[in-house]
Amino acid sequence: MNLLPDFRFHRPETLEAAVQIKAATPDARFVAGGTDLLVNLRRGLGEPSDLIDLTAVADLAAIRRDGDALWLGAGVTLADLARHPDVVAGYPAVAEAALAVAGPTHRAAATLGGNLCQDTRCVFYNQSDWWRDGNGWCLKYKGDKCHVVVKSDRCYATYHGDVAPTLMVLDAEAVVAGPDRVRRVKIADLYRESGAEHLTLAAGEMLAAVVLPPPGGRRAAYAKARVRDSVDFPLAGVAVSLKRDGDVIADLRIAITGTNSAPLLIDTADLIGRSWDDSAAGDLALALRRKANVLRTTITGAKYRRRVMQAMARQLVGTLWDKG
Ligand code: SF4
Repeated sequence: MNLLPDFRFHRPETLEAAVQIKAATPDARFVAGGTDLLVNLRRGLGEPSDLIDLTAVADLAAIRRDGDALWLGAGVTLADLARHPDVVAGYPAVAEAALAVAGPTHRAAATLGGNLCQDTRCVFYNQSDWWRDGNGWCLKYKGDKCHVVVKSDRCYATYHGDVAPTLMVLDAEAVVAGPDRVRRVKIADLYRESGAEHLTLAAGEMLAAVVLPPPGGRRAAYAKARVRDSVDFPLAGVAVSLKRDGDVIADLRIAITGTNSAPLLIDTADLIGRSWDDSAAGDLALALRRKANVLRTTITGAKYRRRVMQAMARQLVGTLWDKG
């Protein structure tokens, strides 16, 4: 690991001040838990002129009721998110996904905002400076060619966050603060399918909070496959929310992670109004295959990741269906 590069350090106490500093220093990076960013900087992945530490902004660390919705500040740690009584009682799948991130020491520092905005990953990118130099760098940083899709002019690094897909199937919104306005977007719209530029946040904007609507009778769950069960990114992850009406599926949402450059919702329209049986499971597997673009971005083979994603989705839907 390298030493951290030189940077100016800011520790604002309000959201407005944080956003103003960012607007004045476009090259600055926000940091909170630092579990993703600081590791990358010590690998030579980026040299920001300024770091804006968000841990003194009290508003960002709150979980509170917002009418019949639940407001989650972006600075809430994953450990606090996973044990908050309103999350555990109303949105257990969110607690489940937060607990699936890394190990306890990471979750004590890592924040919801940092988890959602974490960088994409690739076996040719998350390496030391000298390793990447020896391999001619790559398109995502300092280089001009992709080693995964050799003739591509875009990066296919993979998004591996655990929490985003769960928020997506629960129809959560992101609160985005910028220098001139605060706006809300669906969590899915925070992302685009580009490994080098996967966040849609404009220059100067930051993720301030997530708002979870009332569960509305949906049951949800999250599952992931990983190399080391105690601490690892998902090789593939699946979140499902299901509402059953007697013998038919009234509502079904599925989101995947660890497969593409963004967490993605799967088109499940064909499954609504049907029973959950082998025919429905086959159609779901087809929809997953169409959407997932698993490539050689991890040391584990793409074929395994594709198949385990489909198996987890089938199992999760079946389990939620059986719960009624
Ligand atoms: Fe680099 Fe290609 Fe990997 Fe992107 S997908 S990080 S461009 S090797």
